[in-house]
Amino acid sequence: MSGFTGDESMKIKDITATCLYSPEINENASDSAQDTVVVEIHTDEDITGIGEVDAPPSVIKSYIDMPSSHDISMSVKKIVVGENPLDIERIWRKLYYRTMMAGRRGIGINVIGAIDMALWDIAGKYYGEPVWRLLGGAQKDFALPYASLPTLQDPTDVQEDLLRRQVSFARSKGFRAIKFEELVNSRERDIESVRLARETAGDSIDLMLDAYYCWPDFRTADIAIRELEKFKPYFVETPLQVDDLDGMSKLAATSKVRIASGELLTTVSEFVDLIDRGKVDIAQPDIGRVGGLSEARRIADYARIRGVQVIPHCWKTGISISASLHFCIATDNCPYFEFLVKELAPSYLRLKLLKKEPEPNDGRIRPPNSPGLGIELNYDVVEECRK
Ligand SMILES: [Mg+2]
Repeated sequence: MSGFTGDESMKIKDITATCLYSPEINENASDSAQDTVVVEIHTDEDITGIGEVDAPPSVIKSYIDMPSSHDISMSVKKIVVGENPLDIERIWRKLYYRTMMAGRRGIGINVIGAIDMALWDIAGKYYGEPVWRLLGGAQKDFALPYASLPTLQDPTDVQEDLLRRQVSFARSKGFRAIKFEELVNSRERDIESVRLARETAGDSIDLMLDAYYCWPDFRTADIAIRELEKFKPYFVETPLQVDDLDGMSKLAATSKVRIASGELLTTVSEFVDLIDRGKVDIAQPDIGRVGGLSEARRIADYARIRGVQVIPHCWKTGISISASLHFCIATDNCPYFEFLVKELAPSYLRLKLLKKEPEPNDGRIRPPNSPGLGIELNYDVVEECRK
């Protein structure tokens, strides 16, 4: 646990977590961008790094602020303050080992993820380089965000007009791929909504389907996916519960459609299981939740060895979206990343939290030149939404 301590350079002064809530919260909505926790790491060189994680804000804040209990249940703040923020991997490991009693998976990793994101932002600002360059450089001329459509939230009917409007809008903005979350495990309805979406999108769009755990078991999912195959979905996301790895591996063997999962997992260790036992075609780490850009890179490296694509999950503000963008630019086996289109997003925080963030142009985003994550918080909105 000892490390290099003779370093006189930049030091972390403080770490703060701010809980933000949209003015209106619908707790039954499938919308995790209604609230957020912004983690800021302050240094003695006037550089501040910004991170975020998709997890219950007040729990993340308490976890960061809690005092030490003992040597493997240490205060996060104590571990981080005094470190050189450029020592990203050293800090990651130290956090992991010294919080592993309550940490190691779940919330403990979510916290490390937000910190890691902020550290990469600091490193970029310090070196005057965008994060994608520090991750090893651009693997592509532009990154492709896929338009993730908000759920239409009507369990009884396919809302044809709304569905067509959303898909048409995303298409008109130049998005090459569109995902929608309208499967409800109701045969005729599901076929009808996917048919409408495909008809509206046209054949050149990659149409992604989020099943959002609607099927109870392998057999049900298998029958349903076979019926949807004719609409040529690019992938079916979370067809089964996260821990049903054997069910997913059977689906991967029988289905002609790519199987995608991973949005709720934390650490590369869980992705090793998802890939090797679950046999998924596409791994979907959420950059903050999985342990930050550092851990997402390890997942991409492992996935590459196994011939698996990585398409990050992200249903959050521009902070996490920017982290996904930098990851996508620097990662060869990442064809798309999830993107909440502002004009379609119901979330106040998605719309308002940032003053500056990378924006798509004709459905694609070129590698941004701004240092760090290339984002700027709107502190008026922070004040308005903090609780
Ligand atoms: Mg999903």
